[in-house]
Amino acid sequence: MKTLDLIAQELAGYDPQSLPAASVNEFLYRLVEPVTEFETVGIFQALGRVLAQDVISPISVPAHDNSAMDGFAFDGAQLQSNLPLTLKVVGTALAGKAWQGQVHLCECLKIMTGAVMPAGLDTVVPQELVTRSGGSDTITVPAGLLKAGDNRRLLGEDLMQGQPAVEKGARLTPAALGLMASLGLEQVTVWRRLRVAYFSTGDEILSLGEAPREGAVYDSNRYTVFGLLTRLGCEVIDMGVVRDEPALLEAAFIQAAQQADAIITSGGVSVGEADYTKAMMKKLGDVVFWRIAMRPGRPMAVGRIINAKSGSSRHDISSDSYQKGTDSGTSDAAILFGLPGNPVAVMVTFLAFVRPALLHMMGCTAPKPPLLKARSLEPLRKKPGRTEYQRGSVTTAPDGRLCVQAAGNQGSGVLSSMVQANGLIVLHHHQGDVAAGDEVDVMMFDGVI
Ligand code: AMP
Ligand code: MG
Repeated sequence: MKTLDLIAQELAGYDPQSLPAASVNEFLYRLVEPVTEFETVGIFQALGRVLAQDVISPISVPAHDNSAMDGFAFDGAQLQSNLPLTLKVVGTALAGKAWQGQVHLCECLKIMTGAVMPAGLDTVVPQELVTRSGGSDTITVPAGLLKAGDNRRLLGEDLMQGQPAVEKGARLTPAALGLMASLGLEQVTVWRRLRVAYFSTGDEILSLGEAPREGAVYDSNRYTVFGLLTRLGCEVIDMGVVRDEPALLEAAFIQAAQQADAIITSGGVSVGEADYTKAMMKKLGDVVFWRIAMRPGRPMAVGRIINAKSGSSRHDISSDSYQKGTDSGTSDAAILFGLPGNPVAVMVTFLAFVRPALLHMMGCTAPKPPLLKARSLEPLRKKPGRTEYQRGSVTTAPDGRLCVQAAGNQGSGVLSSMVQANGLIVLHHHQGDVAAGDEVDVMMFDGVI
């Protein structure tokens, strides 16, 4: 486990007062560690979980050569490019019921999609292509339409026995569930779920159900963070709004560090913030406070909160305080992501930094989603020297290419434009103004958050 100082020394040009977005990812990647406990779950419980070991195919799929069409199977060596081929129908092969007899030259078999191809037959002519004669006993394959091997699915063309079907570190998608089921697997081994505790800070923040009062705002961050974490497949621990009082903050951090692998807070990390949040983070852990060269966002605290109350017994596995949740084996330190207070800044810092870090902790080997390229429909002002994330609406232009339009008010507290947007336009650190028609990178929300 590296100290924050050591990580800082490893990063060239590290400046906590003006940290480029890419360095934030680098730093977090070095700070966090993947979980080490795994469990076996049924396929229906495995969606979105991360595989803890390769799934090796116990069988070949398909298990036999089989027909891709309803039609007639025959030996394709008889095809001649300029001559029709006439064949006698000697039987029928159904899916799930193989033909047992022999098929000789000048003969064929009526065959259904998925039925096993008998030995010696390698080609299927779809039924709609043939002409029939002799009371359907004889078919004629027209010249020039087929070549040997057509309309046959090969044994193992999906997966060969012994090959990795899905690799360790993959997040299981609906397609992966289907693939594992096609191998006859009822269970898979996945990393345990990550537990993430979160709370909002700030004396002006109202919980739902509280009466409005002057100068106060309802808490929205806990709800977006809840949604973002739930989509990610984390176990969430909602700790509410924590008042700006040292005793309450201390209790919240300690409880969170005991129960969770990571803690997400919002608010109270700005420069000159006159509250106890930063002081408590410092007191309870190894924490750095950054000003990130980005917009929106900027302030962020990162580090480890250590459950000081468990003190010297921290490394004693037999101690109760070592237990976290229901399993043992996790330390009582938790990674802290102290996000800014502004609701859009919370979402942007989560998507850009926290999400990839959490995925890494979840054991996922592809923690960053690919960016899309879209044409900007309008000029965008951008200062080089910081990364800007603008809410954007991506659509398909009449020419079939993707285009993007900045969505509404870009103020860092304006959530309504976040709701209208379907992605974030990422204007990179060194990038300057964008002209209308220029391509920009977009981080899509859809299916991601
Ligand atoms: P801070 O980072 O604490 O200075 O907060 C910046 C802005 O975000 C202030 O206008 C806060 O009122 C607002 N804010 C902080 N936390 C929340 C929250 N949980 N929900 C909604 N707005 C918040
Ligand atoms: Mg505040």
